Amino acid sequence: MNDNQSNYDVIISGAGPVGLFLACELALAKCSVLVLEKAEDPNAPTKQLPFGIRGLSAPTIEALYRRGLLNELEIHKRLKNPHQTPIQQGARRQVGHFAGIPFHEGNIDHSQWENRLPSSTDTSLISEMQEMETILTRRAVALGVEIKRGLALTSFQQNEEGVVVHSGEQSFSCGWLVGCDGARSVVRKEGGFEFAGTEPEFTGYSTKVEIADPEKLGSGRILTPKGMYLQSQPGFVVIQDFDGGEFHSSGMHLTLEHLQEVLRRISSTDVTLTALHFGTTWTDRARQATNYRNGRVFLAGDAAHIHSPLGGQGLNLGLGDAMNLGWKLAATIHKKAPESLLYSYHIERYPLGEQVLDWSRAQVEIMKPNPGARALNSIVRDLLDTRDGATYIAGRVWGIHTHYDLGEGHPLIGYSVPNFEFEDGTKLGEVMLHGKGILLDFDANTSLQAIANKYTNSIEYVSGNVKDRLGISAALVRPDGIIAWASEKDPDPSQFQEALALWFVRNSE
Ligand SMILES: Cc1cc2nc3c(=O)[nH]c(=O)nc-3n(C[C@H](O)[C@H](O)[C@H](O)COP(=O)(O)OP(=O)(O)OC[C@H]3O[C@@H](n4cnc5c(N)ncnc54)[C@H](O)[C@@H]3O)c2cc1C
Repeated sequence: MNDNQSNYDVIISGAGPVGLFLACELALAKCSVLVLEKAEDPNAPTKQLPFGIRGLSAPTIEALYRRGLLNELEIHKRLKNPHQTPIQQGARRQVGHFAGIPFHEGNIDHSQWENRLPSSTDTSLISEMQEMETILTRRAVALGVEIKRGLALTSFQQNEEGVVVHSGEQSFSCGWLVGCDGARSVVRKEGGFEFAGTEPEFTGYSTKVEIADPEKLGSGRILTPKGMYLQSQPGFVVIQDFDGGEFHSSGMHLTLEHLQEVLRRISSTDVTLTALHFGTTWTDRARQATNYRNGRVFLAGDAAHIHSPLGGQGLNLGLGDAMNLGWKLAATIHKKAPESLLYSYHIERYPLGEQVLDWSRAQVEIMKPNPGARALNSIVRDLLDTRDGATYIAGRVWGIHTHYDLGEGHPLIGYSVPNFEFEDGTKLGEVMLHGKGILLDFDANTSLQAIANKYTNSIEYVSGNVKDRLGISAALVRPDGIIAWASEKDPDPSQFQEALALWFVRNSE
């Protein structure tokens, strides 16, 4: 065996968006990181438009913004219409969907989202996987991350001191291993993680084809008595065939003949396909690791949870994992973490994954080609056309209400910190680039500042007047932007001290 002597703080298996974002977070916190990536070539048709299109939700947009990456995403400026249908403006502009049922801008009541200040980032954006990965790779490399492409993790062993990772004949050692190696994660399988959930109802097809008689197909998303099909752009066809996921699971090669048979059956037409340029299949199998950690090994992204892409939440969920895990793992590595910190990764992220799996299951249920589902579908359609209905669904799809249960206290605890705007125009998100925690102290309370001064390795003290303080006097913000403690007036220093000790460790004296 050819032992590579380098010892990394962390090895990440998989240079997808989640692995790369996690690598950036760890390197920002001065950890040494090696990323092993199976694929030699970072480019793939599935990552490019139109298949590589990804809807980003509010927590993802905030995360990218807080690390100075949002302005690098160009795609949302170029793509005027996220859904590739003729551009509509105004109240009837479609801004998302639930099970293919659109909801419209004019029905969404933003005033119900009380913590979103006028200075907040967008609630949703469109991105392209390829561009996202390019930006994240660039940042990771600039921060000193080593990325080895064409090297798949094949096995590993862990003990109390660390992990030895194997890629064929090569070995690498590290303190911690994170599996960001996607739905078929080798880390998950080798690490003995239980992956529990439900089996698929359908095979989904994303294809680029030549159609001899495209006029035979309807436009937009068409639910039929046998499934669903969508021609998003000429020749780009997506199909849902409720075959119990059989075709996808069979591993059979996708042929023009098979695709034509499926499309004819689903659309009840005799449409003719003359060429298949590209095709990939997927399912709505919904599974989740029952624990995201096993000793020195973690899972994040699709490695930890899979579900149908309906409603577009997988990437957002995975990037949220990375934002949550990065600072906790880095603090542990630098011996700046309380004992319980690493456990909180699974405790906080598992319930969010569970919600997303159920969200996707609910959509599949009302898309099924049966009379009961059709009836439910029509009721949901009516609800989505109401103000409360659209606001609720948009809030869920865009992750507006995403929060962690961090216990009793101020109602903002566990939520993403609002993007407070200081009187000089600086926004809070702009002072979070360093990835440290923050004590926000709007009333310049000397007792709080004295306590914060004992934690300068982990948190930064930020004071000053803001335009709208939402009734808050002071707040402790974790490096991932989550409020860990807040007080409306006359903050109690002992409560603040208690909250600090839950998440951070004092500077050594
Ligand atoms: C059709 C479709 C549409 C979607 N739309 C959306 C959307 O709008 N919004 C959204 O949020 N999500 C969407 N998703 C889901 C989203 O694409 C995934 O959740 C996201 O890509 C997961 O990122 P990841 O980094 O965890 O995994 P991946 O992107 O799968 O990356 C895993 C990486 O690990 C590598 N790898 C695999 N095995 C190994 C190994 N043994 N060793 C080393 N490397 C390995 C792979 O080559 C790959 O580069 C969609 C998915 C599909 C299929």
